[in-house]
Amino acid sequence: MTAKIIDGKVIAAELRARVADEVARVKREHNLVPGLAVVLVGNDPASEVYVRSKHTQTQAAGMASFEHKLPADVSQADLLALVAKLNRDPAVHGILVQLPLPKGLNTEAVINAIDPAKDVDGLHPNNAGRLAGGFQALSPCTPLGCIILTKSVHASLEGMNAIVIGRSNLVGRPLVQLLLNENATVTIAHSRSRDLPGLVKQADLVYAAVGRPEMVRGDWLKPGATVIDVGINRIPKEDGKTRLVGDVAYQEALEVAGAITPVPGGVGQMTVACLLVNTLRAACAIAGLPKPAV
Ligand code: NDP
Repeated sequence: MTAKIIDGKVIAAELRARVADEVARVKREHNLVPGLAVVLVGNDPASEVYVRSKHTQTQAAGMASFEHKLPADVSQADLLALVAKLNRDPAVHGILVQLPLPKGLNTEAVINAIDPAKDVDGLHPNNAGRLAGGFQALSPCTPLGCIILTKSVHASLEGMNAIVIGRSNLVGRPLVQLLLNENATVTIAHSRSRDLPGLVKQADLVYAAVGRPEMVRGDWLKPGATVIDVGINRIPKEDGKTRLVGDVAYQEALEVAGAITPVPGGVGQMTVACLLVNTLRAACAIAGLPKPAV
């Protein structure tokens, strides 16, 4: 048996197209142009790549994109002043401060300063708390993408056994909450979990968000399981270059899983597409419009 490959590229492109349709509709019907502001502090090369792709995709969806680049040695006060200005700006409906921030800046204080209504990364404690309470919230983009990818395979996740490996605020914890909202039965594993292979063996749905190359082996999986690999790890090749691998041993998993996301071309593609969804939703909520159809 060879697993079905879940094509994140195709699914993300479809999602972006649906967002663009809804953006065109709210523009036409309500004269509303959703706007996303991205703040990049310093010049971390990986962050620069992400920010550029967010900018391009936001514009391609018909939204306004505002980029703010600040030097790595910006003061906490100046960064907070920019966030406060964006909170007040009526053209801005989503604010994303690219993480990680350079050393010396207090990430928690910056996240707390973002207006929760504009917190399209879903990291503000108001949104994290609302999500955990089962209330309407802006949820982090990568976990949202994981759910959409899973639902491309299973129309309903009700009663399925899911395991989330990793408990970060950005991925693991919010993903658990979204899976509970889908009525899955969820196990959350982390570095102190015992018998991880045994836990994974029980799961119909496996989410690996660890940051350890190819940690989850093929023989850990229950035959037919759906595997969503969030990990992005750069490992050296023999020719001195590097290649990307996930947290799952892909070739081994292909032989056992029912469906699996590749790395690259899986979850990574969905994250920015879901950022556009969140920006559109935030813009509609701020304008007092009904939730958009995406
Ligand atoms: P973190 O480093 O914040 O969290 C990693 C988690 O993995 C922690 O909860 C940690 O446990 C757990 N862990 C570490 N070692 C083990 C182990 N041996 N067994 C079981 N669990 C372990 O990472 P992130 O959540 O931010 O990211 C995870 C991965 O996902 C990374 O590769 C990252 O690059 C990728 N990523 C991809 C995105 C995308 O768009 N595709 C977006 C965001 C992240 P503990 O809490 O006990 O320390």
